[in-house]
Amino acid sequence: MPDGARNLQKYETYIDGKWTAARSGKTFETYNPYTGEAWALIPDCAKEEVDLAVEAAARAFESGPWSKMTATARGKALRRIAGLIERHAEHLAQIEVRDNGKLISEMLAQTKYMPEWYYYYGGIADKIHGQVVSVDRPEHFTYILKEPVGVCGFITPWNSPLMLATWKLAPALAAGCTAVIKPSEYTSASLLEFMRLVIAEADLPPGVVNVVTGTGVNAGEPLVTHPKVAKIAFTGGTLTGARVSELAAKSFKKVSLELGGKSPNIVFDDCNLEDAVSGAISGIFAATGQTCIAGSRLLVQETIHDVFVEKLVAMARQARLGDPSKFETQVGPVTTPPQYKKILSYIDIAKGEGANCVLGGGPAGKEEGGGTYFVKPTIFTGVDNKMRIAQEEVFGPVLSVIKFKDEEEAVRIANDIAYGLGAGIWTQSVKRAHGVAARIRAGTVWVNTYRAVSFLMPFGGYKASGLGRENGAEAIESYLQSKSVWINNGPGGGNPFVMKTSG
Ligand code: NDP
Repeated sequence: MPDGARNLQKYETYIDGKWTAARSGKTFETYNPYTGEAWALIPDCAKEEVDLAVEAAARAFESGPWSKMTATARGKALRRIAGLIERHAEHLAQIEVRDNGKLISEMLAQTKYMPEWYYYYGGIADKIHGQVVSVDRPEHFTYILKEPVGVCGFITPWNSPLMLATWKLAPALAAGCTAVIKPSEYTSASLLEFMRLVIAEADLPPGVVNVVTGTGVNAGEPLVTHPKVAKIAFTGGTLTGARVSELAAKSFKKVSLELGGKSPNIVFDDCNLEDAVSGAISGIFAATGQTCIAGSRLLVQETIHDVFVEKLVAMARQARLGDPSKFETQVGPVTTPPQYKKILSYIDIAKGEGANCVLGGGPAGKEEGGGTYFVKPTIFTGVDNKMRIAQEEVFGPVLSVIKFKDEEEAVRIANDIAYGLGAGIWTQSVKRAHGVAARIRAGTVWVNTYRAVSFLMPFGGYKASGLGRENGAEAIESYLQSKSVWINNGPGGGNPFVMKTSG
């Protein structure tokens, strides 16, 4: 059917402050995962567009007005971005719902909170200070400058496109860097709308923020290997992260990686049962389980196991599946067809491994509020931590319940995994809360809560869950590098063949 007849919205991408199609003229369709229908066309960019975008970002960084802008002016630019997001939060949320299938309630919460990142890092922009250092050679005046690393390449996954781009863009701009963003081919629309409504209106010089849409191999790899890109910030799967890291190492780029997870959500028998049940649900069924921090391994103390599982199943059974644009919906569709197949294949794997399916366990049809890409909220009990369903990231609404005897065993099972992104602890004992939190090998530990994030709190993974931290004051450091400056105010001379050390 011709595109005109289907009335697909046609997007262009944003390079050097201008809207442009892919040079090849190619586009690909993007789908509404709830209806299963294509609704827009996205430019299918490749190396040529990456080169243009990186050149534009390099010009903006090296010689354009951005390079001459004061840090205070950069901070104001970030605050303008924040204000524009506030104005368009609802529209941005709706686009993400249409393209990604995320719930409108979740998306509004995200887009209304997103400005805080730009206010926060905007405030930091002119508080990035170097340092004067008194070295042990009194005739020298020595200081350290903090300089932006340069052009940054951002690669983001399909599950939270706007939020995860924000975590990178806000500190990078505050530091004085410029950026080229490659969103996932499955969910590019919200970022393009963000460029149209926010970046293009924020009075930023051309080339400071650019977007190259396209596939990982055609657009992602040329960005990772481009010699003028100084840093890659990647969020995505662990295998892709390893590939990106390997490619980036060849040209010695700085790399930060936010990767997958298989987080333990640990329920002790001294917990508040109702809160813990709700926390377990939030850990695995929020965002249809398509979140890196999903609490997909639920560790339950054996003394309360049966009663806990009974309450959990009863609550999960009530979850309302349906149209993600409706506020009453609690579980939306899976975002992409490959992900849908992957989730169903893991359900089969779990059954084959002998796990006991006590809820769900397959596609959810129209009569259950579901549709094309819906999976029933699924709970397996009797899971052994060695099973694939316990060790591998499913990225869907599939929970593995694992029994433990005592604190020692809970910590051992929690840490017996390649990942280390998040963890939950449910207990009313302060001593146990602090003690277990200290022993868990993960970047974030939530006690009596789950899936809370803030611009103020560092976020990132231990082990195979990543490298570096986003958010919080420390994130700015990953977009800066130090330069040591030595000014000799004393006489010259000395032995030119000997290093100038003290003494
Ligand atoms: P992928 O790793 O498949 O893709 C992530 C991004 O990398 C996409 O933009 C993708 O493009 C691109 N890409 C793919 N191959 C390459 C390549 N060879 N070179 C450069 N770029 C490439 O992840 P998903 O999109 O499937 O996202 C889900 C994963 O993301 C999960 O594992 C999840 O845990 C993780 N994640 C981690 C988070 C964290 O903060 N730790 C947060 C959210 C998700 P394309 O889509 O076009 O293939």
